[in-house]
Amino acid sequence: MVEASEKITIDLQSGSNSAPVSSEPNYTKAVKAAQLVLSENYVLAEPVNVRDIAKNYGLEVVDADFGEKLSNVAGFINPENRTIYLNSGNPENRKTFTIAHELGHWILHRDKLEKEPEKYAVLYRIPLGRLNQDPVESEANCFAANLLVPKTYLEKHIEKYSDVDQLANIFNVSTEVIGFRLKYESRHSGN
Ligand SMILES: [Zn+2]
Repeated sequence: MVEASEKITIDLQSGSNSAPVSSEPNYTKAVKAAQLVLSENYVLAEPVNVRDIAKNYGLEVVDADFGEKLSNVAGFINPENRTIYLNSGNPENRKTFTIAHELGHWILHRDKLEKEPEKYAVLYRIPLGRLNQDPVESEANCFAANLLVPKTYLEKHIEKYSDVDQLANIFNVSTEVIGFRLKYESRHSGN
C-alpha cells in the first residue's frame, strides 16, 4: 500500500515530467500582440526602438558583462525587478531582438515567467531557423520578429529591395529575422 504522502510525490513527479506543454504555438496571438504594441506606442517608422518601448511597459533594460561562461546567453528578464539584462558582448541587432523577445514573454506569458523564471526568462543563442521546441519560445520569437519588422513596413520596402542584407539594415535586425519574416508572410499571404 502506498502512503498518501508518497503517492502525492509520485503524482507530482510524473505530472511535471509528462505535463503537456501547451501543444502548438499561437502565432496569431503573437502577431496581434506585436501589432497592438506598435499602435499603442505610436510607432510610425522603422527601425523600431524597442528600448523605448520596453520602458513604456515598465521594464528596465541593462547591458551587462556576462563573462565567458555565459557567452552563449543573449539575455534574460528578471520579472521581480522588471529588468531585462543584455549580453553587452552581443551586436546591437542581437540585443534589440533579445529585448523584443523578452518583452514578448512579459506581454504574452507573464504567468509562466513568474511561475518558472528559470525555464522562460533566459534567452540562449539559438538560430531562429532551428526553433526551440517549446511553443512559448516560438511565440516570443514570432512576437519579436513581428514587432521589429512590421508587416506594412516590410511590404513597403520589399518593392524596392529584394536583398536580404539591405532589408536587415533598414530594420536593424539580422538577416535571419528578415528570412523568418519573409517565410511567415509567404505562408500567410492569403490573409
Ligand atoms: Zn524566451
